[in-house]
Amino acid sequence: MAESLPCLPLSSRLTALRGVGPTYAAALAEAGMETLRDLLWGLPHRYVDRGSVRRIAELDRWHQPGGDREILTVMGTLKDLRQTTTRIQRMNLLEALLEDGSGTLRLIWFNQGYLTRTLKPGDRIIAFGPLAMGRHGLEMRGPTIEVLGRGPAVDEPWIRRYLPLYRKLGPITGRVRGRLVQEAMRKAHVVEDWLPVELSRGLPDLLGALRLLHQPPDDADAADLEERTTPAHQRLATEELFAFALGISLRRAGRLQRRGIVVPTSAELRERLRGFLPFHLTGAQRRAFKEIVEDLTSGRVMHRLLQGDVGSGKTLVAFLAMAMVAETGGQAALLVPTEVLARQHAVTFARLLGDDAHRMQLLLGPMKAAEKRAALVRIAGGEARYIVGTHAIFQEAVAFQELQLVIVDEQHRFGVKQREALKEKGVDPHWLVMSATPIPRSLALAVFGDLEQSVLDELPPGRQPIDTRLIEPDEAERAWDLVERELAKGHQVYVVSPAIDPTDETKVPLRDIQAMEGLLRARFPEVGMEVVHGRLKADEMAARMARFVARESNILLATTVIEVGVDVPNATVMVVDHAERFGLSQLHQLRGRVGRGQARSHFVMISGAETERLRALVETQDGFRIATRDLELRGPGEFFGTRQSGVPQFQVADLLRDRKLLIRCREVAEITRERGLNEGQLAWLRQESARLKLAEIS
Ligand code: ADP
Ligand code: MG
Repeated sequence: MAESLPCLPLSSRLTALRGVGPTYAAALAEAGMETLRDLLWGLPHRYVDRGSVRRIAELDRWHQPGGDREILTVMGTLKDLRQTTTRIQRMNLLEALLEDGSGTLRLIWFNQGYLTRTLKPGDRIIAFGPLAMGRHGLEMRGPTIEVLGRGPAVDEPWIRRYLPLYRKLGPITGRVRGRLVQEAMRKAHVVEDWLPVELSRGLPDLLGALRLLHQPPDDADAADLEERTTPAHQRLATEELFAFALGISLRRAGRLQRRGIVVPTSAELRERLRGFLPFHLTGAQRRAFKEIVEDLTSGRVMHRLLQGDVGSGKTLVAFLAMAMVAETGGQAALLVPTEVLARQHAVTFARLLGDDAHRMQLLLGPMKAAEKRAALVRIAGGEARYIVGTHAIFQEAVAFQELQLVIVDEQHRFGVKQREALKEKGVDPHWLVMSATPIPRSLALAVFGDLEQSVLDELPPGRQPIDTRLIEPDEAERAWDLVERELAKGHQVYVVSPAIDPTDETKVPLRDIQAMEGLLRARFPEVGMEVVHGRLKADEMAARMARFVARESNILLATTVIEVGVDVPNATVMVVDHAERFGLSQLHQLRGRVGRGQARSHFVMISGAETERLRALVETQDGFRIATRDLELRGPGEFFGTRQSGVPQFQVADLLRDRKLLIRCREVAEITRERGLNEGQLAWLRQESARLKLAEIS
């Protein structure tokens, strides 16, 4: 019986389990599971409380005709399976009889070819679904099911109150996975607890926590299990967040040791910078700039996040930071996600620089060869000191004379990789990230943990709130009336249509940009209109945008390409069609395109769906609050975009819910790092980081 002694450390390969051969190992690896730790962190997606499993004979007690269609749970063996086709709509129908010893119940599914192929008579299943009265009595329609086994019941963990259910992983059914987990639980052995007592106090130890979640005791609370609020969950969440925080702390400490370029300051420089300013800085801009100056002169490498609501004046702060470097012998680059935006910034910078505009260089991917060559020469020779561009800036061919500062507009699309590319070229410039979507400070601390933060929490003076309305599609005429009135006043108008992917399946019929163009041309035949979308060639897009900016056209119909950029103070209305297709923060960014001049501005969302969600925009103009709401609704993964954004994919921790815990973990992580990590802790950190796919710790 030596085999069943707990003897395997969590870092053991899964092939150490008897149930795992090469095929399963490959399937598990495919799902990112290589070690016992990985397997055991894959928690059940659901627990069946056997106390809530109903006996079929008693089901009519639970059936309320016309009442709430309550989801009921039944468990039994499949008897008869029959596939037919309905006469009227020609849908495939799968019928099955489920027997549980007390009676039989008819289960029905429509168009579920998958089930037809997988279910067999004799399968023991658990079914969750609503009851309805059919021709032959009570039946359950479209239940979700889990197959518990095939053939007569043996060694099912049914004696327990809670039955954990696992998602299938490729060829590994949920049931088999459950068995592997149980084997792993029997054999797993944890020698030392690496969570500092400051964090682990009052919580179960790691193995204990895993046991509570994979084999919940009968007295566990069903709601807590469901909502993931048991102490066991908390223990696992703490483990994840602490690993995350410790990784950040180490990275940050490493960075603080690097020697940064010291940018010299002087009264003269300050005078010169002041000369560039078209207006007084807001208090928040002044504060942010001061923080940047402190970094640039500190002798350490700056690594700062500049956050601010749309319209809070991030560009001006970015410009000042660039000027500080550019006017003292260095070069500064501003990196933006789109060409439209790059051109726009170039125009803004040229205006700010006035007579010195020749010191600025725009660098885009698709430039004429001669033009590009000239640009590269100016950059390499140091004639160009302010460089504005897209990712073209990071191409091989680009050599800087003295790159000292990189400003990245929009965290999501540029980042670590580009920085590494630069470092390989032997440059380690100061780094400023501007976040287009403001997030609450505590959360930014969480997500961009190794960046210092500056926040612009104040709008420039004289801004009026933007009149925001949400209207139904059949009231759209009101929007066009408003557009008409504003055009009559000599103002310009944005209309935004969602970009529609033809393969996109949606319930709401969509009006695409062509249809919208037709509508607008018919309604405003005399008015010049530009249509821009992502499929246009860059120069064509730029030409069209330029005509709008120059007021040669007064309507700009666009997909979201305008989202992150343009600044046309004369535009006073934006109408967004199918507003439900957009995230709240995205809509807020769009709204920020109007209200940039003196005149009262309007933002109209047309939508027949999700009006509850969209109302948040009518209720507040505070981008931080909107982002928080958006985050709550979509969750961090969606909100921050893809994995490349560097947001960790926690399995148990929830960045929003566990914000306080994360801050606590950060504090303890700092202390732990200062104390110094021992080998065991480092090994643990490496394993957890690998499991969470966190950035390498260096
Ligand atoms: P953000 O990038 O933060 O959305 P911008 O930098 O585009 O905001 O600034 C929005 C508008 O406010 C621009 O038209 C800019 O010229 C103007 N602006 C910026 N700072 C000030 C200020 N201190 N006083 C007045 N207007 C300002
Ligand atoms: Mg901006």
